[in-house]
Amino acid sequence: MSINNAIAQNLKHINQQIHTAASECSRSPNDIHLLAVSKTKPVSDVILAYEAGHRNFGENYAQEGVDKIQSTRHLPDIVWHFIGPLQSNKSKLIAENFDWMHSLSRLKIAKRLDAQRPSDMPALNVCVQVNIDNDPNKAGVMPDEALDLVASLQYLPNLRCRGLMTIPQLEQSEQQLAQSFAKMHSLFLEGKNKFEYFDTLSMGMSSDLHLAISQGSTMLRIGTGIFGARVPK
Ligand SMILES: *Cc1c(COP(=O)(O)O)cnc(C)c1O
Repeated sequence: MSINNAIAQNLKHINQQIHTAASECSRSPNDIHLLAVSKTKPVSDVILAYEAGHRNFGENYAQEGVDKIQSTRHLPDIVWHFIGPLQSNKSKLIAENFDWMHSLSRLKIAKRLDAQRPSDMPALNVCVQVNIDNDPNKAGVMPDEALDLVASLQYLPNLRCRGLMTIPQLEQSEQQLAQSFAKMHSLFLEGKNKFEYFDTLSMGMSSDLHLAISQGSTMLRIGTGIFGARVPK
């Protein structure tokens, strides 16, 4: 095992930050999961992270993700999350290959994913994406519609709704961001009271890791901090 590469070092560093942030707000670090966002990065980087002990990976582009999933089939316990915007003509790729889908915001897509999920695979874990800042440029359902969509998903047997996801506006003050995260957390708690299997609040990236943890995030999505800067497409 080569654990002296930059990716392994970065993972170690971020896991330490998660531990510190969790203990500062008296949360268990075991309740906070790290998703390594490997979009645009080669599969060899995914394998380095895997060899360093990491198991959960996130991808934004359907075909790129599927290629990496197919080249890592031999790695036990690897878990793949789709976190990007999804056009309905790509839903089959997601249903047939991924373990999780974080960016669900339309019932129509949910029904397609449910119908396309192969019967020999476990249910597809999904999170409903919430447009917490009512930002016209961002995907996701409005906060007051999120739990209605979650309720509709309960009737789709091949999907398992695990929680909520958000990408907040970056150009806002720390105080505004904290408010957005807090709103997400209260929606999440409301959902947790109502729905079985509801245990995931996918919220927070490299720059706002501390704040997200203090506001109840259970899953952080980090790319650059693990794999380095991406070449813009
Ligand atoms: C790319 C991406 C991330 C990771 O972003 P970094 O800035 O590289 O850490 C997290 N969430 C989503 C939805 C993304 O598209």
